[in-house]
Amino acid sequence: THFASLGLAEPLLRAVADTGYTHPTPIQAQAIPQVMQGGDLLAAAQTGTGKTAGFTLPILHRLLNSPAKSRKPGQPRVLILTPTRELAAQVEESVRTYGTHTSIRSMVMFGGVNINPQINALRKPLDILVATPGRLLDHAQQKTVDLSAVEILVLDEADRMLDMGFIRDIRRVLALLPKTRQNLLFSATFSDEIRTLSRSVLNDPAEISV
Ligand code: AMP
Repeated sequence: THFASLGLAEPLLRAVADTGYTHPTPIQAQAIPQVMQGGDLLAAAQTGTGKTAGFTLPILHRLLNSPAKSRKPGQPRVLILTPTRELAAQVEESVRTYGTHTSIRSMVMFGGVNINPQINALRKPLDILVATPGRLLDHAQQKTVDLSAVEILVLDEADRMLDMGFIRDIRRVLALLPKTRQNLLFSATFSDEIRTLSRSVLNDPAEISV
């Protein structure tokens, strides 16, 4: 398979070409069509497999292909949760890279840094929010973030989030999201706890493993 055969929007293919990638990795070849179609996804994938582009590209494609309803500032259409600030920053960097020829806007937020610059940034329009769970909940509590317009949820490295004790935070975030949405869960390992989380979050997911 070549990237061009996946049917991704032209500005995304141009961004892929900019990076020099010609062929999707196995996880990308499986995940991209499923996510483009709007289905839920349960993916067993380690870092280094290309999983980030595997969800970022089809999410950008979906945003480009569905009209943005008018939203207030601080209302993302996509929420990507990650266990660590490093991963959050990396994922948002990928969103920027693949979205560079589009007008889709993204933001990253994590704890351990001053909240005020984040509050300022949230006054601008926002499509994709990449966040660690604790700081996201701080913003939700202060009503600087409004999760009621989220159409797509990604739980990235879900096993690490559980290992780090984020299950209660994740449940609190889930309670703030619209019931009808697309859900993607990525995990390197599949414990009983991950299976339980998957069952409660995902709707008839396609399962892929690489
Ligand atoms: P990830 O598993 O998402 O952390 O990505 C691992 C690395 O693979 C990153 O450095 C990406 O830039 C790179 N990568 C992602 N997709 C491709 C691709 N289709 N071809 C070559 N490298 C890629």
